[in-house]
Amino acid sequence: MDFHSKLQTTWTDIITTYRPGVVELVANAIVQTIGFVIPAAIYMLIDVVFPRFSQRHKIQAYRRQPTRQQILHCVKISLFNHLLVLALHGVMLYMKGFEHSFIISDAPIPSLTTFVGDFVFALLAREVSFYYVHRALHHPSIYAYVHKMHHRYITPVAFAAEYAHPVEHILANVLPIALPLYLKGAHALTLLAFVAFELWEAAADHSGYDFLKLPPAELHDLHHEKFRVNYGTIGLMDWIHGTDTVGWDRPKGDKAN
Ligand SMILES: [Zn+2]
Ligand SMILES: [Zn+2]
Repeated sequence: MDFHSKLQTTWTDIITTYRPGVVELVANAIVQTIGFVIPAAIYMLIDVVFPRFSQRHKIQAYRRQPTRQQILHCVKISLFNHLLVLALHGVMLYMKGFEHSFIISDAPIPSLTTFVGDFVFALLAREVSFYYVHRALHHPSIYAYVHKMHHRYITPVAFAAEYAHPVEHILANVLPIALPLYLKGAHALTLLAFVAFELWEAAADHSGYDFLKLPPAELHDLHHEKFRVNYGTIGLMDWIHGTDTVGWDRPKGDKAN
């Protein structure tokens, strides 16, 4: 039996044994843990277990790293946001009835081509939606109320990816990742795989390490350091809008007059 057939058999067993709402909620909890909590904890453990290696590979100066107390505070809020999202998801499923689900269906699991196509679509949709939501959050009239909290960590650590006001967490972190594939009606396994990938990417982007080139952690690290640059995630929208260099918003030469 090939991998695709094995996966189909296992998936069919799961969705015929358990109620769809339960499968969806448990799958989300597993994805959040494997995609974010474990990788973020590993990135942070590098600091503790291999301090010299860590010192050599931090993007920003080692002396600027947050203190242990600041890191613990960051982990606490980040985990709170995780539990908040899971609780909200649980309430939505409870109201819908666990016999139903938002994403679980008996549709056959997708071919590799469909999976890759949906994945690329979701990557682009996330880049576009996150870019504009993030730029809106930087607008002076709302920045102080919501996004300022995320920018507390000028030198980020992995858990800082989800150190955010709950409103920002839903609008900027959850919806741009989950909504495009949900609206497209993609298979639940594609959506779950994409969420896991994006959560890991967010942890890596905030890890502060220079050896993470895919995704390029330097892009978002620079956003935390310099503030008005690199609003997107993969660099595409910043390249289109010219917001990929520090000082893009300052007047140049004669144009200033
Ligand atoms: Zn920002
Ligand atoms: Zn950030």
